[in-house]
Amino acid sequence: MRRTSGYVIGVDLGGTNVRSILMDSKGRVWGRDSRESLAGQGKEATIDQIVRSVGVVLEAARSAGISRPSLLGVGIGSPGPLNTKDGIVYIAPNLPGWENVPLVRILRDKIRLPIFLENDANAAALGEWWIGAGRGVDDLVLLTLGTGIGGGIIIEGEVLHGASDTAAEVGHMIVREGGLLCNCGARGCLEAYVSATAVVARTRAAIEQERRTILKRWLGGKLDNLSSELIFRAAGEKDELSSQIVEETARFLGIGIANLVNLLDPSLVILAGGMIQAGALILEPVRKYATEYSLRASIRGVRIVPAKLEADSGTIGAAATVLKRKRLL
Ligand SMILES: [Zn+2]
Repeated sequence: MRRTSGYVIGVDLGGTNVRSILMDSKGRVWGRDSRESLAGQGKEATIDQIVRSVGVVLEAARSAGISRPSLLGVGIGSPGPLNTKDGIVYIAPNLPGWENVPLVRILRDKIRLPIFLENDANAAALGEWWIGAGRGVDDLVLLTLGTGIGGGIIIEGEVLHGASDTAAEVGHMIVREGGLLCNCGARGCLEAYVSATAVVARTRAAIEQERRTILKRWLGGKLDNLSSELIFRAAGEKDELSSQIVEETARFLGIGIANLVNLLDPSLVILAGGMIQAGALILEPVRKYATEYSLRASIRGVRIVPAKLEADSGTIGAAATVLKRKRLL
């Protein structure tokens, strides 16, 4: 694709912020906006914030002399479950009151451009595939390690949606039968062990059982201030408890990755989210355990790497969704 064939807008809808980006089809950024999602004020308030945010990047387009006909559409990366074909958000866990919202129709009426809906983790995977860590790789899995565990799967260059748009719920793979309780109601899900929240909870439980750790001194007794960043930092300083927690976290993540690798045969696994800031401290043991638990033929040549787009992955992925649906990628 030598010629710029148009411009796209990507919106990342989150529980805290609404972010927008204006890009051209070659991946250059022409405008950005970020504002609070005002989730506590109800869905109308949040939808108004989306419209305002898109308004700001549309203004950037006007200032840059980009004509309205060259704007191909707006991609929305939203928490789910949702329906990409009908454009409906069924439930958004961090957006109270969002139930069966026909978001695509509502936004099309207000913005008057084609609107495309995608699950936020799928969008992040698509963004990394387009211009991030997954560039040039057509079979990849992305895992987002945050307060929950999200996932996006790209096979043969296409996002895997499944029959009802719920594919790639990698956080709810069972990695230990009868294990810790997960937010979804099941026991032993990957998310119940590996999310930042879970890492903190496991460490806290150990501290409350009088395990020795440098974290006690760092926190000065304020256990509520415990964070996964702190635990990784303590592991970096060879704190025994923290090192053990990181090792366990890496093992569960390795088991999850091994299942994905055996099932899907990707050539790349991308890890995104705050925990990856810990670098080799987490990546090295994850690679070790993923290799240990995978079929040798499947894991051979699989790279496990950190995401590249970081805070922009949601908006860029949403923008890429427009190009993908228009068959321009
Ligand atoms: Zn679960």
